[in-house]
Amino acid sequence: MIIWVTGRSNSINKKETKECVSFFAHELMSNRLCSNLYIEVIYNKRLYEKDKCVGVVDSLDYYRPRDFIIEIDSNLNYESTLRALAHEMIHVKQYARGELRDYAKSKKIRWKDEIIESRAYWSMPWEKEAYGKEKKLVKNYLKFKL
Ligand SMILES: [Zn+2]
Repeated sequence: MIIWVTGRSNSINKKETKECVSFFAHELMSNRLCSNLYIEVIYNKRLYEKDKCVGVVDSLDYYRPRDFIIEIDSNLNYESTLRALAHEMIHVKQYARGELRDYAKSKKIRWKDEIIESRAYWSMPWEKEAYGKEKKLVKNYLKFKL
């Protein structure tokens, strides 16, 4: 797995960003899948201001997504940064394992075998999974770090 970190977070340094992204990846995916991933983490000062979200992920390859760009707002505190990274890594797992695919030019999304056109953000199954698992991942990471 190759992890690049661009920009600066106010609460977590580059070395720890790499450590926790790698930890989350291994909690979520097989070693084999992890070893093929390229992940760029960009800390962006204006992400929240611009998009009203604290993190986003983009997969660069539709058919066999292995390259990802994760953007995280750089003003978050330590715990919120970990939560946002864990959340986006759950989406990386969903894309890398082919559970989630979005059709770039339409608003359709495929989740497992279902095509979903549009729904409220909170009720989307991939968001439910991400919100449901992020806290536990952070907890495991903090335990591992001790
Ligand atoms: Zn999400």
